[in-house]
Amino acid sequence: MPFTANRDFKEAPRLVASASGMYYRDQNGREILDGTAGLWCVPLGHSHPTVVKAVQESVATLDYAPAFQIGHPQAFELAEQLIDYSGNRFGQVFYTNSGSEAVDTAMKMVLAYHRSRGEAQRTRFISRERGYHGVGFGGMSLGGLPANRKQFGTLLAGVDYLPHTHNLEKNAFTRGLPEYGTHLADELERIIALHDISTIAAVIVEPLAGSAGVILPSKGYLKRLRELCDKHGILLIFDEVITGFGRMATPFASDFFDVTPDLMTTAKGLTNGVVPMGAVFSHQKIYDSLMAGPAGIELFHGYTYSGHPLAVAAGLASLKVFKEEKILEHAQSMTAYWEDGLHSLKGLPHVIDLRNVGLIGAIELESMPGKVGARAMAAYKKAFAEGVLVRTTGDIIAMSPPLILEKKHVDQLFGKLHDILKHLD
Ligand code: PLP
Repeated sequence: MPFTANRDFKEAPRLVASASGMYYRDQNGREILDGTAGLWCVPLGHSHPTVVKAVQESVATLDYAPAFQIGHPQAFELAEQLIDYSGNRFGQVFYTNSGSEAVDTAMKMVLAYHRSRGEAQRTRFISRERGYHGVGFGGMSLGGLPANRKQFGTLLAGVDYLPHTHNLEKNAFTRGLPEYGTHLADELERIIALHDISTIAAVIVEPLAGSAGVILPSKGYLKRLRELCDKHGILLIFDEVITGFGRMATPFASDFFDVTPDLMTTAKGLTNGVVPMGAVFSHQKIYDSLMAGPAGIELFHGYTYSGHPLAVAAGLASLKVFKEEKILEHAQSMTAYWEDGLHSLKGLPHVIDLRNVGLIGAIELESMPGKVGARAMAAYKKAFAEGVLVRTTGDIIAMSPPLILEKKHVDQLFGKLHDILKHLD
């Protein structure tokens, strides 16, 4: 069981057997409202008929195509459409099978890019405390969540970390993005001075830290980071594995924040979670620099399942649904109601913060002495038993529903959480 207390789970397994729209169902047909879009990966709701049909047709037509030395037209079509969906801010797309692989791929692209320009000594990455960049050895080394690293070490040397942006004293109960914290981006200057600019390959951050429990940047933070990267000629990577594909009611968080990185890692909502797939979006200059190298394979990297036909079909169908069903517009129309619903929990026992942006929300609970995470886990288990799925990190409850949710779902989710939190030990 990934990221699960196996022994605890086996004592009382939680199982789902089917899903459609906003709901999972267990083996007995009991409905469970999906307050987390699976793992942030089902923006269009479960088993969307357009996506299901596309995948069914695809598997009956082209089950698999090698991605080395050969391609299939839909893979190129999806890349074109993804570039278009990104507002043509990127030039190229590289397919992976997951967010973790997207992060490791982006790291390799960065290193290869610098090498192609005669700057092979630029190998150091700068990420951020409490960041999550997947579970590959590259992404894990960038990650700033101690529990994800302590069993494994960090094989990759040469990573430094910006401070995280969480500050309850200054920002608790802010609606939307907080004001405080832009100066934290300036720490980049100190880190650059320490290591010397000539060694630095790239800065990578999640526009907002999801897995750490929804840690928001201040209003000006990402712009400041972009300015500093530009000033020093450093590549900037946004890890948009959870924020991509509509989570902020914009195509990507980079649209929401109006900051364009040089590379962007995505996965999850790319295929509505139906078939595993990730994609790295890259600025054209990175591609061009590699293409200017000696003849032959320009980037010695790839996966057996890069651009898998089923994943591509799910990706194309998802983009179609985003457009035809005006998913982003609907998500935008729900954000104020979502925010009000979340903040209605203020004043309940143990609630020390509520935070939101786009269709993301988090409830931070005061930890029980010596038992970090126990209180939120108790709430999680109770919620699941009573028909609502949320997520927890430590004592933070995070929510990221499918973007198709209606007001009645917001009422159901926060109504149930209200009842649970009211009586939580
Ligand atoms: N990067 C970020 C920001 C994520 O939130 C995640 C997963 O939640 C990943 C990378 C890893 O993605 P995957 O689990 O698909 O490997």
